[in-house]
Parts: sequence; C-alpha cells; structure tokens
Amino acid sequence: MNGKVYLIGAGPGDPGLMTVRGMELIRTCEVIVYDYLANKRFLDFAGEKAEIIYVGKMGGDHTLTQEKINDLLVQKAKEGKNIARLKGGDPFVFGRGGEEAEELIACGIEYEVVPGVTAGVAAPAYAGIPVTHRSCTSSVAFVTGHEDPTKDESAIDWSKLSTGVGTIVFYMGVKNLPYIVDKLVTNGRDSKTPVALVRWGTTTRHQTWTGTLESIVEIAVREKVKAPSLIVVGEVVSLRDKLQWFEKRPLRGKTVVVTRARAQASGFLTNLQELGAETIEFPTIETVDPESWDSLDKGVSNAGDYQWLIFTSANSVKYLLKRLRQTGRDIRDLAGPKVCAIGKKTAEAVEELGIKVSLVPDEYRAEGILDAIGEVKGLKILIPRAAEAREILPETLKERGAEVDVVTAYRTIKAGTKKDDLLKSIREGDVDMVTFTSSSTVSNFAGMFEKDELEEVKKILKVASIGPITSETATKFGFIMSVEPSEYTIDGLTKGIVEFYSDGKTIN
Ligand code: SAH
Repeated sequence: MNGKVYLIGAGPGDPGLMTVRGMELIRTCEVIVYDYLANKRFLDFAGEKAEIIYVGKMGGDHTLTQEKINDLLVQKAKEGKNIARLKGGDPFVFGRGGEEAEELIACGIEYEVVPGVTAGVAAPAYAGIPVTHRSCTSSVAFVTGHEDPTKDESAIDWSKLSTGVGTIVFYMGVKNLPYIVDKLVTNGRDSKTPVALVRWGTTTRHQTWTGTLESIVEIAVREKVKAPSLIVVGEVVSLRDKLQWFEKRPLRGKTVVVTRARAQASGFLTNLQELGAETIEFPTIETVDPESWDSLDKGVSNAGDYQWLIFTSANSVKYLLKRLRQTGRDIRDLAGPKVCAIGKKTAEAVEELGIKVSLVPDEYRAEGILDAIGEVKGLKILIPRAAEAREILPETLKERGAEVDVVTAYRTIKAGTKKDDLLKSIREGDVDMVTFTSSSTVSNFAGMFEKDELEEVKKILKVASIGPITSETATKFGFIMSVEPSEYTIDGLTKGIVEFYSDGKTIN
C-alpha cells in the first residue's frame, strides 16, 4: 500500500506556533521532508528511525527543483512510507502546497493538508501590528512581491490593490521594495501611508523597521534589510507604537550560553527563550551510569534500615529509578525511610514517583539540609548521589552522630562538546553571558579552552552562577561574576539574569 503525504505548515519560525496535528505527524511519520523556512528544531521530535531530507531553497540557490521534490514525495509514498512534508508558514499560502497536492493526486497518492500559522499574520502580530483593526481597516490582502519588475504584464491589478484594500502584506518582496512602493504610490496610495518591514518574524532574530511609503526604501537600503522579510502597508502599522510586546521582552537581543547537561537544560533554555534571549546549548557535563551499581543496590536492599533517604539532585532520583527498574524492583522497595530533597526540583522529581517528601530545606544547598533536619544522633541515613560530589553533607551528618551511607547513583563526565564555533561567536561579539549551574560546569567549561583563549573569553563574557559554591569555583578560575541569585535554583538564576539586564545591577 502507498504511504500518505501530509503537507504541514510549520508556522513562521517560533516553534511554539506549530499546530498540535503537525507535531503529532512529525512524531509518527517515517519520512520528514523540510524546507529552508521550516524551523529545524522540529526535527528533534522525529522518530529515531525517521529519514530526514532537506529540500530547502535559499533565494535563487535551489537545493532541489520543485519537480524533483514532487518526484521525491511520490517515490517515498510509493515505498509505503508516510511523509511529513514541512513547509514554512502555511503550505497553501505562497508555499507551492497546491502544486505538490496536484502532483500527488495525479499519481494516485493520498494526501492531507495541515494548515499552519502564516508569516503574513504572525510576523506582524509579533511586531505589534494586527493586520486588521476596526479603527483603521477591515480588509487585508496577501500579495506576492516576487514578480519580475521588468515583466510587461503584471498579474497584480495594482490600481485596485493600491486603493481597494486596507492592509497589504507582501511576501518575498524586499528585493522589489522600490518597485512595490512605486506601483502603490503611482496607483493612488497616499505616500504618507505607514509601512513596516518584519524580518525573521517570531524568531529570536526577529527585527522590525517602520517608515512610510515615502521613506521606507531609504530605510531598507540603510539598514540592509534582506529576506526573509514581509512588507506590511497600511494604517495598522502605526498601532505598533502602542501594541509592541515581543521586542520589549527583558532578555531580547542577549545571547546566553547554557552549560548544563543536555538532559537537564531544557527548562532553563525555555525560561531564557521566553524572556527573549537567544540561547546556545553548550553542555559541559553529561551524566552516565556509575562504574558499579553495587553500593546503590546494597542501599536499596537495606532501605528499611534507614530513617532518612536524602536526594541531593533530580539526577539521583532519575538514576535510582532507572536501577530499580533494571533490577526488577520498584519504589515499594524504598519503603521505610523518610525522604528529604534538596531543592524544589529534586522534590518534584521525587513526588512524580508518588513518594512523599517529608523535608525540603529552605536553603538549597547541602548546608541547608543540616540545619533543617535537626537532631540526627543515632539515625541511619542513605544518600544516593554522584560519584564525585562534595563531602560536606555526609561529613557533617557523621560529626553530628548519624550513621551515613553514601551510595553512587551516577557519574558526571565531561561532555564531548566542541568549542570552536562558540569561541568564534564570542570573538565576534555575538555572545553576552555564560551560565554556570554547578562547579563542574565551571571547571569543564574552562578546561575546554587554551589558556590564552580562556583569558579572552573571561574578558568578554558576563557570568551568571546558580549559587555561592559555583561562584566560588568560577572566581577561582578568574571569572568576574555578574549574577548570583538569592534563591539557588534555575528560576532564581533566570530572575537574577533579568534583574542584571534590566537595572545593570552586579553583585560585585
Ligand atoms: N508559506 C509561507 C510563505 C512562504 S513564501 C507562509 O505561509 O508564511 C516565503 C516568504 O514568506 C519570505 O520571502 C517572506 O516574505 C515570508 N516569510 C516567511 N517566514 C517569515 C518570517 N519568519 N518573517 C518574515 N517573513 C517571513
């Protein structure tokens, strides 16, 4: 049986603007065929075995002709595979989706359209421009700006378009901007009409310029505005003064490096992105299985003997659960001890397993636990944690008379991240800040650079650390700290970064 082709609109760039149906299909299709304007981030959601094919075009530089793309879709469908054909924006708005659909029908291949959020609506919206508004216009036209200006006959009826429609949105038009402006004005549109250019709308590279039909060409030349951009013509453009939001977010224009292990980074990355920052994922550490599970297995076997089970990170929880599953056990084998978790995130990870957390110390570091836990004399305490963690917690518990068993749940190792691209971006002034979320992220980050490179990096980058211990390590390496939050969590760190960039407060 033939497979089916899904023509999916991937939205204008912000990955959040993909539809639920589109996402479902990306997860399940055997083949993904994607375009230049479709955000590559979606590919992360493809199935492990999915075949991923890029058929993008950049301007005149065609990677595959439309004919070849059509052939490819038909061929893959005939192999019995379901295909997610991802297109920027909406597949049926200047997306050649109609042509692909015709070809599929001609070849007897079933297809489905999943409409997308078109750039012509979304990019202006992110610029604070509603394409319609009761006070200024009740009509909007989407027009191609790609027409060859030297052509004698235009497919666009400029005289009707210029005065007959309130808002006019041109796709693929920046190159032809002088021609478009000239056509509108000579056909009767007031030269004082406001115009906006929106480039890479809704993405972290989003930029907006505004002017009037009279001034916009000069602005576009001066600012070197290039594709992909939209031209929005009409009174609605002036609403931007009031309605701007996306470009006002506090971390807009900042690029922040996240050094956390990839598996833990996503919450932090999302935080930063939602505040407008561009993020660079640069994991310096990875967590892996311990060299031996013996001590952990023994701890679990004797769980009933302990009064306290202390988790110092969500990783300990994750690896303990993994090991329980591997050995045919489950959380019932942990019955007995009360559970203490350092920090909210660790507590959440424990509670997700359906285990009650009896204690979450106010202060999010080892020392905080010692104060919160109170009298420990004569108690047996089990701490599953990283192989090379700090000793202060078990040592102090022992000093206070507890019997402490530290068992190894995982190891952190250096991640195989390559520094060259990052160093290049840092040197070019494209990176603002590096964030450290543990001492090992600091030492591994520093260890990736040659000595003189590190000196350079330290001069350029602002540094944000999650808490005093991490800052201490960073200071030892000669980093100048800019941010250290009062709450030692990822949310606290995010808040600290926002404060730093909004009022320039440094901690030193
Ligand atoms: N099917 C797409 C349009 C493809 S035509 C859609 O519905 O959005 C390509 C043109 O779309 C570009 O030249 C540019 O004018 C516009 N475009 C697409 N994404 C854009 C974005 N993020 N910001 C600004 N313009 C964009």
